[in-house]
Amino acid sequence: AVKQEQVKCCHYQDYMIAASQEKTRLTADLQRAISNNEFAVYYQPVIDLTNDTIAGAEALVRWHNPVRGLVSPLDFIPVAEDTGMIVDIGKQILLQACTDTKMQIDSGLWPSDFSLHVNMSVRELLHPNYVLRVKEILALTQLPAANLTLEITESRLVSQPLLTNQLLGELRDLGIHIAIDDFGTGYSSLAYLTQLQFDSLKIDRSFVSQMLDSDNHAAIIAAIITMTETFNSDIVAEGVETIEQANHLKSLGCRYAQGFYYARPKPLSEWDITHGT
Ligand code: C2E
Ligand code: CA
Ligand code: CA
Ligand code: CA
Repeated sequence: AVKQEQVKCCHYQDYMIAASQEKTRLTADLQRAISNNEFAVYYQPVIDLTNDTIAGAEALVRWHNPVRGLVSPLDFIPVAEDTGMIVDIGKQILLQACTDTKMQIDSGLWPSDFSLHVNMSVRELLHPNYVLRVKEILALTQLPAANLTLEITESRLVSQPLLTNQLLGELRDLGIHIAIDDFGTGYSSLAYLTQLQFDSLKIDRSFVSQMLDSDNHAAIIAAIITMTETFNSDIVAEGVETIEQANHLKSLGCRYAQGFYYARPKPLSEWDITHGT
């Protein structure tokens, strides 16, 4: 029995060592990816449910590594956040997304009120001079601030609520819109929400995916929609995969939707062919 336990112990240690070695390799690869510009931006349309047209798009990073292949953001964003590399990666993504959007608008492929959504991690927001950096990127690309929405995940807001909220206010003063991402999965109280600087809420995919099977989830979505009407803010449902979900969201009065039912995230080159103008 003793022997068996030793074996278990060693397997566990091996596992821990392997995991930490992989994290070290990933960190080094990510650092190289930043200098080699290995990141691409994909775009997923945001649909206006009142007229079934494209109102905007969410920019989603894709990492093409020569050895690893296509790496999911779910696998490298957390490491990039831990190590602080997200600051440089986020800058590259924002610059690319603003450049692309300006070009699409100028060439008439996207309407002048097109809404570009870019994800922002709290680590970026709290980094010194972040607001100034964003302002510079807008000036450089000539994209009007009103075309940009920065998405921040609700669950990450709690660590330094006063400071984050103040910074969100500074971004809004520039004319940028703020969306609270993955709404419903965090722990923010309604009292906190009334003070939070934001323009729209994105209902997390988990509510949409269970909406048709669970009255509770449908009721929560209905309540969130009513709430945004009170706050005078916009609402986007994430992860819409079926026509039934789309129709149900419409009947609840949800204004915007995003999901595989409409389109998967795509590089710009494939986007216009698929969606036209
Ligand atoms: P998110 O911001 O919640 O983005 C939505 C995710 O849901 C995307 O995954 C998208 O591809 C996926 N999705 C969209 N519609 C559907 C659907 O109908 N069904 C399902 N099952 N999934 C759908 P993705 O691109 O893998 O990104 C994962 C997460 O990584 C994002 O979640 C976001 O938190 C983070 N991320 C992606 N790009 C960036 C970025 O440029 N900066 C930062 N800080 N985070 C990013
Ligand atoms: Ca998002
Ligand atoms: Ca989300
Ligand atoms: Ca998410």
